[in-house]
Order: sequence, then structure tokens, then C-alpha cells
Amino acid sequence: MLEVAPYAAQAAASRGRLHGEPAARGRSEFQRDRDRIIHCTAFRRLEYKTQVFVNHEGDLFRTRLTHSLEVAQIARTIARQLNLDEDLTEAITLAHDLGHTPFGHAGQDALNACMKPYGGFEHNLQSLRVVDHLEQRYGGFDGLNLTFETREGILKHCSRKNALQLGEVAERFIKRRRPSLEAQLVNLADELAYNNHDVDDGLRSGLVEMEQLATVPIFKHHRDLVLKTFPKITGRRLIHETVRRMISTLVTDLTQHSAANIKKHAPQSIEDVRRAPVLIAFSPRIEKEQLALKQFLRINLYQHYRVARMSSKARRIISELFTALISEPKLLPPEFQTRAREDKPRAIADYIAGMTDRYAMLEHRRLFAVEPI
Ligand code: MG
Repeated sequence: MLEVAPYAAQAAASRGRLHGEPAARGRSEFQRDRDRIIHCTAFRRLEYKTQVFVNHEGDLFRTRLTHSLEVAQIARTIARQLNLDEDLTEAITLAHDLGHTPFGHAGQDALNACMKPYGGFEHNLQSLRVVDHLEQRYGGFDGLNLTFETREGILKHCSRKNALQLGEVAERFIKRRRPSLEAQLVNLADELAYNNHDVDDGLRSGLVEMEQLATVPIFKHHRDLVLKTFPKITGRRLIHETVRRMISTLVTDLTQHSAANIKKHAPQSIEDVRRAPVLIAFSPRIEKEQLALKQFLRINLYQHYRVARMSSKARRIISELFTALISEPKLLPPEFQTRAREDKPRAIADYIAGMTDRYAMLEHRRLFAVEPI
């Protein structure tokens, strides 16, 4: 196994699993977590869940699955350079979106609104719920029984109220401590990946034009570099050459700035990391450039009328499903009816959150379409 730095999470010194199991053979505990995530049902569903574009809009757009793979690839590259645990990094990235509803953020907002009176809905908490409770694969326990470090990394945000309920895995939100560097890294690799692939998908969809994007300094800078090297380049090649340079600049900056932060604070263990400020970070200059790109995407892509139209429809589908199921829980599949006897709204939220985009549309049609049944 690769040696990691003392400030990295140490697989052999993991805080362990909720249910005791014999030690993993031939792989580290974090590798075992990663493998369990790849084999679980919620992971396969990511293929049919949206980031920005609904799955059926085009076969080449990112889905939550390809997004998670891109985040993993970026995060592992950086983890290796910083001597962090690559397997833990990969496990957290592959699990980070497991709790997402269908239809991306529109779906999450709608489900959260429906769940307001019952404790709300938040996709980070739901990702943890998936790996802790909802997956049913093992004889001895519900969920995947992952290590503390992977679970802690999945729980990116958490309110104080929820943290008090969740206990140990959320204690850092009460004690105001930081998570492992691996978890900090996944956070930023996530942002880095989606900003860049949304540029690519935005251009591919035609919702955003090259000339518009050239108003964003980081994009213009890299596009101009490409045109200098390849004056006749156009179309897909120009987009890709530009995006790959942006990714490379951001990865290099994140690696170097984080390495400098680590050097400055010199943590000697994961406990030191928990007490230090956030150490994995972009430099202030690149942070600002990335923010400008983010703002551009928000206004020009995420709020584009064609995306807004899709989001509005998605919100309606989710809230109509919720309303129908809460008034008639017998419409739930048997497994969720059993859960609903304990906590009806939560069981319905779990059911809806687990749906893929196309399953949600199909179920909505089955319940609402006025056509032969
Ligand atoms: Mg993500």
C-alpha cells in the first residue's frame, strides 16, 4: 500500500465502522469502502440522474455518474501529489452525490419544500442516509457500514440541529472542527469539476455561446492561449483545448496553494488537521476567477429559460408525486409502505429521492396522465 503523509487519514488507524467486522484482506479499509460504494444500487442510479440537463435531453451530457467519476479523477490526482489517502478520497467522491434527488437542484428544492414541516430534505444528509440505512445488501446490518472517515467526508454540510441528532459523525459541526484533508479536497474538486463540465455542456447544448463565455477572464485567457497555438482551431476542439487548460490551471493552483498551507501549519496528524483552519484551498486570485465563472454559469446557464422551464416541470413532478403519496401511502411499493408506518413523510422522501429522472417521470405519468390505465 502507498505511504501517505502523517497528516493524511490513516486507513490502519480508522475510527472504524458502526458494526464491527473482520479486517479487510488484501485491501485497506478505505479501499473496501470504495468497493462497497461502487457495488451499491444507489451508485448505479447516478447514471440516470441529472446534473443540469435532464437525462433524455442528450446522450452526451454529464450525469451524476460521469460527474462523480470526473470528480474522483481530479481529486485523486491532487491527493496523490499531496500524499493524502487516494482511496479515501475516491470513496468520498464516488459517494458524495448518492443522496441526490432526480432532476438535480430543482428536484432537491422541491422535495425540501415538501418536507419543510417534517424536518426538511438535504442531499448531503441523504447521501449519508443511503450509505448508513437505505442500502440493503448485507446480512448483518442495514446500509454499507462504511468507516467513520468516509461517512464524515460525505457529510459536507450539516445544521446544528441535525448534527445534534446525528452524533459522532457530525460532531465537527458542533465543535467547529475541520474534516480530513481528503474530505476538504473532495469539496473543491467537486466545484472544480462541475464548473468546467458545465461550461462544456453549456456550449454543447447551444444555451451558451463561445463569445459570451469570452467575457469571463479565466475562459478568455485560456481560449486565447489555444488560438495562439492553433490559430485555425474551431468547434469541439477549441472548446476541449480551452476547458482542459482551465482544469489544469485550477488543479495546479489547488495543489500548490494547499501544499503551501500544509507546510505553513505543519499538521502532524489528522487531529492537528481537525484543529487547523481549512487547508485545502485555491489561491485568492484563482478563487476570484472561479467565482466569476460560477456567476456567469448561474446567470447564463442555470437561469436560462430552457433550463428554468425544465426545472419548473421537475419541481411540479416532485411535489405532485409527494402530495399524491402522502395522501395515499398505499400507492407506495410494499417496502416503503412498511417504512411509512414508522415515519410516513421520511419514507416518501426516501422513495422519491431514490428515483432516477426517467422513473420519476414514468411514475408521475402512471399516477396523473389521463389515458387508459
Ligand atoms: Mg457533486
